Amino acid sequence: MELKVFNSLTKTKQAVKPINNTVNFYFCGPTVYWFQHIGNMRAFFVMDSMRRAVKYLGYNINHVMNITDVGHMTSDEDSGEDKMEVASKREHKSPEEIAKFYWELCHNDMKELNIEDPEHICPATSVIPEIIDFVRKILDNGYGYITKNGVYFDTSKYPKYGALGGMNQNEKRFGARIEVDEEKRNPADFVLWVIAKDNHIQKWDSPWGVGYPGWHIECSAIGNKFLGEHIDLHGGGIEHKTVHHENEIAQNYARCEHEVVDIWFHLEHLMFDGGKMSKSKGAIYTLNSLKEQGYDPMDLRLFYLSAHYSKPQNFTFEALNSAKESYKNLKRLLLKHKTGTNKIDSSELTKLKQKFSEYVADDVNSPLALSVMWDALKNYDDSHDIYDLVIDFDKFLGLKLSSVEAEKLEIPDEIYKLAEERKLARINRDYAKSDILRDEILSLGYVIVDKPKNEYEINKR
Ligand code: AMP
Ligand code: ZN
Repeated sequence: MELKVFNSLTKTKQAVKPINNTVNFYFCGPTVYWFQHIGNMRAFFVMDSMRRAVKYLGYNINHVMNITDVGHMTSDEDSGEDKMEVASKREHKSPEEIAKFYWELCHNDMKELNIEDPEHICPATSVIPEIIDFVRKILDNGYGYITKNGVYFDTSKYPKYGALGGMNQNEKRFGARIEVDEEKRNPADFVLWVIAKDNHIQKWDSPWGVGYPGWHIECSAIGNKFLGEHIDLHGGGIEHKTVHHENEIAQNYARCEHEVVDIWFHLEHLMFDGGKMSKSKGAIYTLNSLKEQGYDPMDLRLFYLSAHYSKPQNFTFEALNSAKESYKNLKRLLLKHKTGTNKIDSSELTKLKQKFSEYVADDVNSPLALSVMWDALKNYDDSHDIYDLVIDFDKFLGLKLSSVEAEKLEIPDEIYKLAEERKLARINRDYAKSDILRDEILSLGYVIVDKPKNEYEINKR
């Protein structure tokens, strides 16, 4: 089935048209200068849903995510301080140590949320030669210029600049700047390579002087390195639409002299207390803080799944508690079906799978896909066919359903001994003794459920 995604540039739902059935997918990754909160994790959950949707619908995928470990200023518009350097000073560690530490934390949270690793995860600092080469080509093609502060992109050379973010001519006049650079030709021009000040820690040699890359160029260079000149799907947080992705489009065009990305998609933010959950506003939760309060990462994943990526999602503990209850209920229903013996008509199963796939294919509509899962679990007699179907749905949902098992109980040895004694009594047809033992086990707080061939199960009373 064909995947359609809402393209933020054309403002229409557009079919993904991969070459050779392999979807080239790029998603803007984390800046590893601090821990990532559950708002950031929503972004990576959305990335994962898109990835899983692609695979569920039968395409292959080549998926790239960058790690920003240099050049991201405290403002996305190239002004302020370099985030890595701020963290380095804050924690008295080198930028490399900071990047390693926070990437590992982030990666760990991703794994706990069952977010699959992209085929390529690429730190910006690992591709400095490729970045320099990309900047050189932009200059060679006449889209850039050099000032005493570095290399700039000349936005006037790319007439479509501003189309993604819907910027008009007036707005373009108030553009990005690293610091006031009187040599900039247009206010919206942005930096590709920054000449480093003496006290700047991260810097490399380049044809334009010792310095470091601007933030936007890394995504173009990394995309180009792993995906070439055609990217089917490119995503990121909504705040990237007006600056970062606008700049990526311009850079790609300047380097390749044709458009590179087919579909741009953007996710809306996780909200808390009436605003975007954000490190600078302070009102944040991390996955760890939720785990400490007794939540399973899958409770959070189910909560994320309940909203469409293109809508802001409000975080409340009420909503998370409801997701927690739902996850429990989901596991209970699933296990009932796992041992169910009813047969379901194959046309019914095909209809459910068809509906589920249609919702996934329609701009990755996870809330509606979830509703099909609930219909399947609730509207049929216990059946292993439903179990198999929901396990198949879980390739998209990612709720770790195939590892759901009946809660294992810690059964004391004494109870096992009595149960074994009772089993022997039953084998010897000594039912009087068997009943006495059953009562004794019951008085100790456990119930024996008899199974065929003298087997049994022990449950808590
Ligand atoms: P950063 O590490 O700050 O570059 O952010 C990593 C990702 O998290 C980016 O794609 C942001 O768009 C995204 N992000 C930041 N805050 C939120 C939020 N409250 N809700 C959803 N995504 C967010
Ligand atoms: Zn990016």
